[in-house]
Amino acid sequence: MPGTAPRAPVRTCIGCRRARVKRALLRVTRTPDGVRVDPEARLPGRGAYLCPDPDCIAAARRRGASPLRTALRGIAEGDAVAALDQLENHVVYHQVPVGTVRSENA
Ligand SMILES: [Zn+2]
Repeated sequence: MPGTAPRAPVRTCIGCRRARVKRALLRVTRTPDGVRVDPEARLPGRGAYLCPDPDCIAAARRRGASPLRTALRGIAEGDAVAALDQLENHVVYHQVPVGTVRSENA
C-alpha cells in the first residue's frame, strides 16, 4: 500500500525557514534554568530548530531573535540572544556536519 511508510519528523529552521528532517537540525529548548541548546533533542518541553549553520543563526539574529522568541513562546529577548550565542558556539566549536547524529554521551 502506498503512503504507509513512516516518515522522518520534519521541522522548520527558524533561520532560513526551510523544512528539514528533525535530526539534521539543532534543537533549542526552554528549561526552568533558561534557554538551552539541546543538540541531542533529549530535553522535554517546547523546542525551536535551526540548521547547524552560522548563516541560519545569523539570519535569526538579524530579525532580533524574534523567530526564536515566537517559537519558544515569549522568552525574553536577552534569553533568545544568549541562546543564539550558545548555538553559534556549538556550531563553530563542534563543527557538527549536517545530518550527523552525535551520540557521544549515550
Ligand atoms: Zn536554516
